[in-house]
Amino acid sequence: MMLSKNAVTVLERRYLKKDANGKPAEKPEDLFKRVAKAIAEADKEFNVDADIKATQDIFYDMMYHLKFMPNSPTLMNAGRPLGQLSACFVLPVADSMEDIFDALKNAALIHKSGGGTGFSFSRLRPAGASVNSTGGVASGPISFMKVFNAATEAVKQGGTRRGANMGILRIDHPDIMDFIQCKKNTTEITNFNISVGITEEFMKAVHEKREYVLFDPHDKKECGKLYAPDVFELIVKMAWTNGEPGIVFLDRINRDNPVPSLGEVESTNPCGEQPLLPFESCNLGSINLDAMLIKKGNQYEIDYQEFEKTIRNAVHFLDNVITVNNYPLAEIREMTQSTRKIGLGLMGFADILYKLRIPYNSDEAIALAEKVMKFLRDTARDASGELAKERGTFPTYSESVFKSKGMVQRNATVTTIAPTGTISIICGASSGIEPIFGLSYIRNVMDNDELLEIHPYFEEVMKERGLYSKELMSKIAQEGTIAHMEEIPQEIRDVFVTAHDITPEYHIRMQAAFQKYTDNAVSKTVNFPREATQNDVRMVYELAYELGLKGVTIYRDGSRDAQVLNIGKVN
Ligand code: UDP
Repeated sequence: MMLSKNAVTVLERRYLKKDANGKPAEKPEDLFKRVAKAIAEADKEFNVDADIKATQDIFYDMMYHLKFMPNSPTLMNAGRPLGQLSACFVLPVADSMEDIFDALKNAALIHKSGGGTGFSFSRLRPAGASVNSTGGVASGPISFMKVFNAATEAVKQGGTRRGANMGILRIDHPDIMDFIQCKKNTTEITNFNISVGITEEFMKAVHEKREYVLFDPHDKKECGKLYAPDVFELIVKMAWTNGEPGIVFLDRINRDNPVPSLGEVESTNPCGEQPLLPFESCNLGSINLDAMLIKKGNQYEIDYQEFEKTIRNAVHFLDNVITVNNYPLAEIREMTQSTRKIGLGLMGFADILYKLRIPYNSDEAIALAEKVMKFLRDTARDASGELAKERGTFPTYSESVFKSKGMVQRNATVTTIAPTGTISIICGASSGIEPIFGLSYIRNVMDNDELLEIHPYFEEVMKERGLYSKELMSKIAQEGTIAHMEEIPQEIRDVFVTAHDITPEYHIRMQAAFQKYTDNAVSKTVNFPREATQNDVRMVYELAYELGLKGVTIYRDGSRDAQVLNIGKVN
């Protein structure tokens, strides 16, 4: 198998079955066989004569050749006793002690199986409100988030992965000002990403420079007002300070809710790409675009036939996951199977831009993003329609927006752009739609040795041109960018751009290009240079709103003490 050293390390550490001594009891090939077999089994539910072996071979081939990878819980748990296959969950948190601690227990069970949980805390009464049964006062959403955070820390997912959470509070909740600042101390609430749930009414109030109304979630009555531009400014200031809170546009997300009769979407999963109804879960999978290229002469192009085949097989795979999934709760099974949402996305976008010699920050790249994603969405919808003919529509189809459009579908949503944090390492691909972070960087390895890692396509082109040298690669690792290196030809500097060479506006425009053809949302971080101002951040938030995004996450270089990726050095 064509697995990199990093891929093998990741698989051995977290994904392969282990024996009693903690040694791997399967090889990567066995893992893909185990997963393909367990997921192909679902075909039997719809057709007793189905050729399971043929389906199994198709699924195995996609994973073996690193063309498609399902989200981590599927790789870890398919064909094993736990059998929990989804990465994304949203749990409701209602305003009573019983409900709050039910949600906490359910989250712990989900984390144990490798899934991440999102919550809206907007239904909790504000800090200081009265509690009838005790005559005391409520401690409010933020204090309960701290309890959820501590529980997450304790569970640590028993050897799979750490629990991740999303915490959302609506902009019209009375505790919003405290929420916006609740991660000011970066050592607190560390197992949560936080986002402010923004409404159209709030954005209108920002633009009209006026106050907006706060509501008591308990009785839905007005309970105060805030001056919208000040609140917006505080969000911008905090995000500029250390990257949080993010924002999600709740009304916009609900405008795209495919089955409004099932209720309102109030939260997303931890990384923001998957809005879900309370008790709904979703399984994701991503196609590696780099594996969809063919070489014609000495130039690459996308093999759309191969891409189409992979999309159809991936939709089949993800629909099967819903059928064989072992859900952590009866409510989650019921809700998930009523909409059968899947989230097919992609990874390796930045890699193919290097190979196609298209700069990420160009109109040509934006046009390619739209073309690729439209093809993915249209083909996935067509595949979901075909499945519906064989297997039936999703059970709430008759209440859905598809019914009125006369569009038969098996799945209420088909596309999501996930971060692909781990599966991109397994595939040796750039993550999701993100640009490359560094062309060359120094990685510290265990015995304090330093290893120089170089992006393979960059290395290839530099060698072809006779420009490659260890010294130059080390210099690039230190500087983090080749944008200003005159010893490198301009056309190479234009194509091999990295996250920090790309302006925040281009980051946002790229996110918008993918969002245009994505049912759910798009995982993307908008990188800012260290010297960016709060004004720059505000402008990007405004642009995100104008371009129809469902949310934004920003990060200003150097604004957190422990940064995962550093220019110059990576641990
Ligand atoms: N996720 C999680 N814990 C993690 C990483 C991810 O719970 O440590 C969940 C979370 O819902 C996230 C989703 O998995 O939004 C997808 O993340 P990613 O694509 O990075 O996962 P992968 O499948 O690559 O591991």
